[in-house]
Amino acid sequence: MKKCRSCGATAFRSFCDLGMSPPSNSFLKAERLNRKEAFFPLHAFVCERCLLVQLEQFQDPGEIFSSDYAYFSSYSDAWLRHAESYVATMIERFGLGSDHFVVEVASNDGYLLQFFRKRGVPCLGIEPSANVAEAAISKGVPTRVEFFGADSAQRLAATGRRPDLILGNNVLAHVPDLNDFVHGLRLLLAPSGLITIEFPYLERLMAENQFDTIYHEHFCYFSLLSVEAVFRRQELELFDVERLPTHGGSLRIFAQHAGGPHDASGRVEALREEERVNGLDRLEAYSGFAERVRETKRALLDFLISAKRAGKCIAGYGAAAKGNTLLNYCGVRTDFIDYVVDRSPQKQGRFLPGTHIPVLAPEHVAETRPDYLLILPWNLKAEVMAQMSHIRAWGGQFVVPIPRVEVLP
Ligand SMILES: [Zn+2]
Repeated sequence: MKKCRSCGATAFRSFCDLGMSPPSNSFLKAERLNRKEAFFPLHAFVCERCLLVQLEQFQDPGEIFSSDYAYFSSYSDAWLRHAESYVATMIERFGLGSDHFVVEVASNDGYLLQFFRKRGVPCLGIEPSANVAEAAISKGVPTRVEFFGADSAQRLAATGRRPDLILGNNVLAHVPDLNDFVHGLRLLLAPSGLITIEFPYLERLMAENQFDTIYHEHFCYFSLLSVEAVFRRQELELFDVERLPTHGGSLRIFAQHAGGPHDASGRVEALREEERVNGLDRLEAYSGFAERVRETKRALLDFLISAKRAGKCIAGYGAAAKGNTLLNYCGVRTDFIDYVVDRSPQKQGRFLPGTHIPVLAPEHVAETRPDYLLILPWNLKAEVMAQMSHIRAWGGQFVVPIPRVEVLP
């Protein structure tokens, strides 16, 4: 690490070293399997001054979010329900209607804005991936293809009205220039408007051993204290915060211009205090994580080795980024896992980066009847177990790797 993405300091401590790993969304076509593949260090550091946990960047964002970008939000039912309920709550709490304007940054395929549109609230998506934006436009969600930052915010603010609500779900961690991005939020936001941002919560990552949510495209891992410092620097104040169950435990922060119309809820101060009690405001709290990660690797390998020695067949479910971090870090390939299934047609027929495990359609599970189905996106465990409950007909069992290896009958 050269300079902290938030405060610019140059002194860091190691937080978690996951070795060398390929970019987690670069699924391979069969003809690429015998070619050279790029691996980059996957090593998270904590800033000694502002305690932001972060990764160094090795690729430019244009490469990461290329037109081949394989992630479409709408493929998860749970995530769609989350989006729909957010829209209903925001409309009710802040009285949003046809005379308001909502902008979503990193709006993906319109998975969320479609619900504002249905409720008659004018909206605009901003999405860097052209093919993903196209899917949004075909749903009737107006979308601009660009990276968001101070420059694009200035252009947008000059051409049209400034939004009453700007939202960003799971984008803040992916932003290469954090201060520029939050500066852009301030430039674009209407004077009395509000911002909501959701991101996976560092406290959960540490408490639940979620090291597999560390991957190259995910540059920052925020506590309330570290994210608040970034917003304060741009004269934005947090007036509310909610804990969410999504992605293994997330925070949703509510921000406004300093001195804006919304009164501060007690929840911001309560969570600040909780973080202080848990030591997240001190460097020492970050030092024990690395050993817990190594122990999780040993436990997963123990399970896989015993299962294979007993002649069991193991398949994986969900070709998501976190699975790729886990499998590469643990060195798990087709010697342990025959294949991974995924509902996204864009991923089927391809191979996982690094481990080269084939990605197939979910129907393949019923045809091959594996003894174990390893659920890689453990945050969607309930949904996957409901969707794949038929594996119990042949005695198949579910396995989750995180926070500890667990077999679920
Ligand atoms: Zn810092």
